[in-house]
Amino acid sequence: MDIKIKHIKSESFEWERPGIWNGMHFYGPGRLHKVTISTDQGIEGIGWNGGTAAVRPSGFYGLYVDYYKSFLIGKNPLDTEKLTLNLGQKQDKILGSAGLHTQVLAALIIACWDIKGKVKGKSIHSLLGGEQKRVRAYVAGGYYANNKGLKELQEELLHNVENLNATAIKIKIGDPNAGISEDMKRVEAARNAIGPNIDLLVDANCAFDLNTAIEYAKEMENYDVYWFEEPLAIHDFKAHKTLNSSTSLMIAAGENYYTLADFETLIDNNGAGMLNVDATICPGYDVALEVAKLAQKKGLKIAPHGCQELQLPLVAAVSNGELLEYYPPEVDELRKDLFHPKLTIDSDGYVTVPDSPGIGFDLNMDLLNRFKVS
Ligand SMILES: [Mg+2]
Repeated sequence: MDIKIKHIKSESFEWERPGIWNGMHFYGPGRLHKVTISTDQGIEGIGWNGGTAAVRPSGFYGLYVDYYKSFLIGKNPLDTEKLTLNLGQKQDKILGSAGLHTQVLAALIIACWDIKGKVKGKSIHSLLGGEQKRVRAYVAGGYYANNKGLKELQEELLHNVENLNATAIKIKIGDPNAGISEDMKRVEAARNAIGPNIDLLVDANCAFDLNTAIEYAKEMENYDVYWFEEPLAIHDFKAHKTLNSSTSLMIAAGENYYTLADFETLIDNNGAGMLNVDATICPGYDVALEVAKLAQKKGLKIAPHGCQELQLPLVAAVSNGELLEYYPPEVDELRKDLFHPKLTIDSDGYVTVPDSPGIGFDLNMDLLNRFKVS
């Protein structure tokens, strides 16, 4: 189809919410950066990024959109693979190989995929392969927060299981003020709260060196932990290899990998058993699908990280998509009204993929516009 990109709009939104933190980062206000791509055929696509990583310097987002504009205006938005290469890898010398600009590029490529879906009358999920109609979700949470002790942590996790239908939940460890004995109390409290039949995932957000990670893994083997996520600095592939071979726990990694090459290196080092690829980091569905296919070839599964409305089309597109990360309103109160339709977990712990053309989810602009900052 002869269709050309005519206009690109960048908007940023920010709202207050109580601070939470993990092993390495404090998350203050909620933020979302939206891009809207218009075409000469009147079809519009949207993409977004920003997620929960609220400390990102979001002022750069609009500047990078301006930069990419000159490469996109007049181009065919359906050529997502070519655009990803030309604006991604081929810009390495100019922009650097990965970073905030890659996240912005991801939003732009996702918007192009949204257009592609609308042009073809198909969901991105089905365009990517559409292997699964439903996928099991886990509820992300278990953050550190002020006045949040073990009792409050347990209440949160029980709520996730009983009211949100989670069959798997995640908690954070690695706060430098906690240490291994405090953190093991968290893991034990979590296991006690949810009982033996719910999967318990534990995430350190890169907080540990190798020896500490090995020590944690050894302790956590006692609590039937389903996976140990991002124990180490992301590019310390040798440490991943050593850790992975030293523990019976499944190591999960990949939410901060911007390239296929990162995943290839991790896999070549046998560094993890679960890949947390994120289509808003990678950048976009073309690279994310390549990662998923690579994982499949190597007998590995994926459990995408990040905004569930954008990751669902990916995880459900491939047969090795195992789990969807699901952020509940308890992590960000605005979330529950931010997207149409609302994605909820069914009583069996699974979510169902919408089959409307494009992403399958819209942003609630009546709500978001109240928080527009640029
Ligand atoms: Mg994580």
